[in-house]
Amino acid sequence: MKTKNLYVYPIDKKYIKRIVTKAPAHKVFKKNGVIEDLTNAVDFICDEGTPVMAALEGVVVAVRDDVMENYDGIEPPTEEELPEEKQDGNYVVIRHANGEFSQYSHLRYKGVLVKKGQHVSTGEIIAYSGNTGWSLEPHLHFMVFKFRKNGKGFRTLKVRWKGES
Ligand SMILES: [Zn+2]
Repeated sequence: MKTKNLYVYPIDKKYIKRIVTKAPAHKVFKKNGVIEDLTNAVDFICDEGTPVMAALEGVVVAVRDDVMENYDGIEPPTEEELPEEKQDGNYVVIRHANGEFSQYSHLRYKGVLVKKGQHVSTGEIIAYSGNTGWSLEPHLHFMVFKFRKNGKGFRTLKVRWKGES
């Protein structure tokens, strides 16, 4: 299923080393009836400290910027290696039209520039990229998702990029 909204790249093309859609964490996770389907996530490989832009205008609904840890294994980390609640590292979540949300993960420690409840414009710089959480190398993990109707988890959508579809 594709996004209804059209998005712009969250990283300026001049900073992108590679774009990767296949990654160990881009799969379906099921636990206690909660299904998190990350199969349509996109990784933008770029140096730490690269400006991250809102891929579409919207309202910031969640932020975290206090994670310093990194786990770079291929297999999912154990709770001792990295607690599950820290796997995304630092992140921003933005709510858009049509029930779609975008998430930007593994941001630099204290690298978030926006606050919950803040309205952001398309292309506005919201954070700096990093390598926090479960991350094999410095990159931005980007995904657009919708919550499941029963509220238990979410599924990512295939992103329609502005100018490419
Ligand atoms: Zn990713």
